[in-house]
Amino acid sequence: MKFKLKSIKRKIGFRGPIMLILVLLLPILIIIYSPVKIIMGSLNGLMTFSSVVFLLWMISALFIGRGGSCGYLCPYGALSEVMGGWLMNKKARSPLASKIKYLSFAGFLALIIYSRRVIEGNNGFDPFLISDQVNFLNINSYGIMLMVISFMMVVGISSIAGNRAFCRYLCPQAIFLYIAQKVSRIIKIPSLNLKADPGKCDSCQRCNWVCPMGLEMMELVKEMEDEHLISHSDCISCGDCIRDCKKGSIRYSFGIPRG
Ligand code: SF4
Ligand code: SF4
Repeated sequence: MKFKLKSIKRKIGFRGPIMLILVLLLPILIIIYSPVKIIMGSLNGLMTFSSVVFLLWMISALFIGRGGSCGYLCPYGALSEVMGGWLMNKKARSPLASKIKYLSFAGFLALIIYSRRVIEGNNGFDPFLISDQVNFLNINSYGIMLMVISFMMVVGISSIAGNRAFCRYLCPQAIFLYIAQKVSRIIKIPSLNLKADPGKCDSCQRCNWVCPMGLEMMELVKEMEDEHLISHSDCISCGDCIRDCKKGSIRYSFGIPRG
């Protein structure tokens, strides 16, 4: 019994309560934030609160990677972690499937660019996209809410493929945030990264086991002989590997990684 409790505690981890609160608040949070609202707002020439949140996440990615968005704040990531990690107890580890998100990124970007070309001017700020102005393709605010709920269901159902399968395989926003991280490196902004000390690693693989994104963290720790910064496009800077590494091989560090 004691062992089982320990194993559940380890699976849920430090961020567990935050993930649970985000999931419980989803009925409210979907009104405030959804990628669907970013696109539908754009197609109606409207700025939404969802767009503002996402712009803030992009800015935060310049300095703290995906920690301030995917790791601790995104309710859809939390849903994918609770369903795929806690309930399904499965890792999302397919490198091939993780390429799909580049397609959804391209689609997302194409819709935003298209909307900028067809909408003349800005129709203002509609934070939650519930005003009568929303009529692109004759979809009213109820229709948009239905799309938002459908999107949430896609996130939930995709968790069958594993912990944070939506984040790892499908989320278009992941690529935008990764681009922001790349920009921060190119213009040499010191940012939050993981620093690995392979000399301390005893190959216990706890970091591999605990990573919600299914990364082979131990291999990344050992890919160089000396201390080095780790930069991986799918790392959400959650710090679970840091907390679970009993040898202190991984830590947070501010710096400029190569590449
Ligand atoms: S948890 Fe730490 S010691 Fe264990 S494999 Fe990972 S880096 Fe090495
Ligand atoms: S590598 Fe570490 S910080 Fe990055 S997602 Fe995995 S557990 Fe979180």
